[in-house]
Amino acid sequence: MAAIDDAYDPEAFREHGRRLVDGLADYLHAVRRGDGVAVLPWVDPGRSLEHWPAAFPERPDPSPDAVQALLSRVVAESTHLHHPRFVGHQVTAPLPLAALADMVSALLNNGMAVYEMGPVATAMERAVIEWMTAQLGFGPGAGGVLTSGGSVGNLTALLAARQACAGFDAWTDGSHAGPPLAVLASGQTHYCVQRAVQIMGWGVGGAVAVPVDERFRMRPDALEGALDRATGSGRRVIAVVASAASTSTGAFDPLGPIADFCERHGLWLHVDGAHGAAAALSPKYRGLVDGIARANSVVWDAHKMMLMPALVTAVLFRNDASSYEAFAQQASYLFEGRHPSDEWFNGATRTLECTKRMMSLKLYVSLSIHGTAMFGDYVTEMFDMARRFAHRVAYAVDFELAVEPEANIVCFRFIGNGSKGGIELDALQDELRSRVIAAGGFYLVRTALPAGVFLRVTIINPATKDADLIALLDAIREAGGTV
Ligand SMILES: *Cc1c(COP(=O)(O)O)cnc(C)c1O
Repeated sequence: MAAIDDAYDPEAFREHGRRLVDGLADYLHAVRRGDGVAVLPWVDPGRSLEHWPAAFPERPDPSPDAVQALLSRVVAESTHLHHPRFVGHQVTAPLPLAALADMVSALLNNGMAVYEMGPVATAMERAVIEWMTAQLGFGPGAGGVLTSGGSVGNLTALLAARQACAGFDAWTDGSHAGPPLAVLASGQTHYCVQRAVQIMGWGVGGAVAVPVDERFRMRPDALEGALDRATGSGRRVIAVVASAASTSTGAFDPLGPIADFCERHGLWLHVDGAHGAAAALSPKYRGLVDGIARANSVVWDAHKMMLMPALVTAVLFRNDASSYEAFAQQASYLFEGRHPSDEWFNGATRTLECTKRMMSLKLYVSLSIHGTAMFGDYVTEMFDMARRFAHRVAYAVDFELAVEPEANIVCFRFIGNGSKGGIELDALQDELRSRVIAAGGFYLVRTALPAGVFLRVTIINPATKDADLIALLDAIREAGGTV
């Protein structure tokens, strides 16, 4: 058993850790400056398999440099979210301190299903949930849980909504024990909501589309019609799912009027704030989520606009008791048969996960050490920068802005001299994106809107400056000149 003793050797850990943190600090220096580093060091998926074969030695490599060599290759070949010109998907450049806290979680491995398996992280979870609910304007009866991602979070909230509003016990008796259910949601809703209703057994028709306005926001005046259509087709509508903000264009559905509608009809209001609930932290932009405190449930990803490493998602309930409805079944060997709300500290009563990471730790540590103001300032600056960029795009004759941004997501396209249209113009955007990414200078994504294909940037990395976005337009122009 010598090998396993060596594997746990604290001195080896100290040495590996020192070198690793040193290496990562150098990496942060280099990548945040951005020079000479491709944002996405593109390797074809097939070739990547050759770089990382399932060829494991039977006995350990005795070389002390082996760890460093392996992990520095990982760093070099990964997508660099701390690069100022990473403006792709809505995943943030994590705070280094939060990454260190995550390492503590990995080593302590307190699994959180029951209090005894995570006493500190359980208390910290309660504290960050309390802080987050207060930011949204929820009252003292609010609560919630942390879970693994917005997709799981939305499913969790909708399970609670179903228990509260279906009019029958679908959890115990099955979804066939009552009329088919539905939620109302706009076509801009994240696909995981559709997936959640299908997981619950409601079929494709379980999400009924509500039309959007010209800025991709749900039209509250169209809710009544959507409800009638759903009811007419034999569905019982239990909830409205509003996006704050939508993934594709960052549009905030008007929560106040939607909440009015829900109150009139006794419907649950769920706000998918995975990306944009953090607007509540910004004095300048909190108006975008006006009315969020009237939601029954809110999902908020801290790995998007709160600078956390993935995953850490809050599922917040205006009435904390609702959160016990999502997974009402009890596992007696864990929970000793009392009502789960007597045991708020046994986390697994309220989450899909049994074991989960100590995900509260990184958030608690970051809020404690960096302070809360930094997070609000960050949201403000990212939203501001998106507006400045959109302004620039709107005034450039060779670019077209899809829509004025509300959040930090901007959709636009290169139109050049305006000679292309339709499918040709769509194909051009994809071609430009591929070229710009392959050149290594930027990482950006694309989205399909009714008007066609658009390039899409999310300004989410505090290292990104206006000059980077100006350079992006130039890089696209340059690529466009040679297509
Ligand atoms: C990102 C996102 C999701 C999915 O969240 P994950 O944490 O990636 O699972 C859901 N809804 C919205 C609005 C999002 O922006």
